[in-house]
Amino acid sequence: MAKILCVLYDDPIAGYPKSLIRDGIPVLSGYPGGQTLPTPSKIDFTPGQLLGSVSGELGLRKFLEEAGHELVVTSDKDGEGSTFDRELVDAEVVISQPFWPAYLTAERIAKAKNLKLAITAGIGSDHVDLQAAMQHGVTVAEVTYCNSISVSEHVVMMILGLVRNYIPSYQWIVKGGWNIADCVERSYDVEGMTVGTVAAGRIGLAVLRRLHPFDMKLHYMDRHRLPKEVEEELNLTYHPDVESMVKVCDVVTINCPLHPETENLFNETLINKMKRGSYIVNTARGKICDRDAIVRALESGQLAGYAGDVWFPQPPPKDHPWRTMMHHGMTPHISGSSLSAQSRYAAGTREILECWFAGKPLRSDYLIVDGGKLAGVGAHSYSEGNATGGSEEAAKFKMA
Ligand code: NDP
Repeated sequence: MAKILCVLYDDPIAGYPKSLIRDGIPVLSGYPGGQTLPTPSKIDFTPGQLLGSVSGELGLRKFLEEAGHELVVTSDKDGEGSTFDRELVDAEVVISQPFWPAYLTAERIAKAKNLKLAITAGIGSDHVDLQAAMQHGVTVAEVTYCNSISVSEHVVMMILGLVRNYIPSYQWIVKGGWNIADCVERSYDVEGMTVGTVAAGRIGLAVLRRLHPFDMKLHYMDRHRLPKEVEEELNLTYHPDVESMVKVCDVVTINCPLHPETENLFNETLINKMKRGSYIVNTARGKICDRDAIVRALESGQLAGYAGDVWFPQPPPKDHPWRTMMHHGMTPHISGSSLSAQSRYAAGTREILECWFAGKPLRSDYLIVDGGKLAGVGAHSYSEGNATGGSEEAAKFKMA
């Protein structure tokens, strides 16, 4: 029987909710493009329930314990001597969410002699040293599509929030003011602006589709071109490289995975090629942007605004400069962890575990690493290497 180690974020400060906010969530028939929703044999939770925090346990305890497995759930993930470090030694399966990532570095993988499967309950497995996973024969899987639409909604919200100067205007009301000029001195319409997405995968394309009715000019860059019909339907302009796209954009949204090819892509050189007063919305991964170059660009006016929900490391130290930089609209990493998304990735995690313990192959759509190499969706979207360097800094949050 296996030991499953599940790292989840803490319960709300006021305690685990005693009731649901809404009576239900919409039932979807499938994902855009036809991919099916997760197909576990059953679920032991109510869709719409808080599942991603420690007491939610991703709804897995009954299923795993009835099958004779041991489930350990913790939020204590960083620093030497953390519960994660202690329990990892004999775990066969690790489950972690990108919002509160359990960094599976090469050192940790080397110590985890029984580790065979790392599941990302969500999308984006850059918190796992994929190179080390390949070398140690650890399978890495994620729940592809579970929260792509959730993130695309958040991106649209953040673009509108930045360009229309929503957050500072809201704050004037809370402060008791009615300062119209202070609110509108940085407020524009998105209509007619050019927006470009770095990557037009599931999230990037969904963002473009959602922005189309706003009459923005839509651009994208990706390693693979979208079908001609889609380009025509949305009147898209394709760029084979990121430089040529950012030069013409008013707003750039970043929607590619973090891997060695994309780490630090938005450095000072690239940001300086953007139009003065551009906006960046990054809900992909913090490390795709150079932390200090973003701060400097906001101070100089090269960027008019920066928003997103992804940081490095996570949680970021209390003195991370993105908490206090000018003209930002940052949130903690939440866009892919709405209650709606949680029910999909909890079900997807269970589907993966059911297949794993039954010896059935995992969906190719879910695979990132398998059999010592990039596999399935991972072979399409990632490059070999490791993007976990520096993750030990996450321990600083706990110490502060
Ligand atoms: P997809 O796999 O559908 O899309 C990723 C796209 O990125 C693919 O089209 C891929 O291109 C493209 N890509 C990969 N490398 C590059 C590169 N070097 N330059 C340009 N494009 C590249 O994934 P999703 O759209 O569902 O998710 C994208 C990312 O968003 C995730 O990897 C994750 O990091 C992040 N995410 C964030 C969440 C949040 O809560 N904030 C939640 C979910 C995801 P191709 O396949 O054509 O090679």
